[in-house]
Amino acid sequence: MDDHVEYGKALRLIRRRRKYLFSVILLYIPAMWLIHSVSPALRTMLTAFVIWVVLLMATCLVAAVCKCPRCGNYFHVHGMTMLFLRKCLHCQLHINADRKP
Ligand SMILES: [Zn+2]
Repeated sequence: MDDHVEYGKALRLIRRRRKYLFSVILLYIPAMWLIHSVSPALRTMLTAFVIWVVLLMATCLVAAVCKCPRCGNYFHVHGMTMLFLRKCLHCQLHINADRKP
């Protein structure tokens, strides 16, 4: 049996970075709507879009480089595949494994 408690720190970090990533994705529409209502110029919208893409790539990268506490491989990356699933792509460790009794 695995000692799930010792994975807690690493899993909390992975969960936090995933939260940042999903926040950036969800922020897209309200942010664009807000910017459009303030300044609907194409140039402003394009600038905001570029900033959002850069932000998305940065959070994506930060979330992708998290290492799985059990197998030591990248939690969300397997070879050329990057999937933000709730399980480790290598050893199937669940993202909330430390929360189980
Ligand atoms: Zn793993």
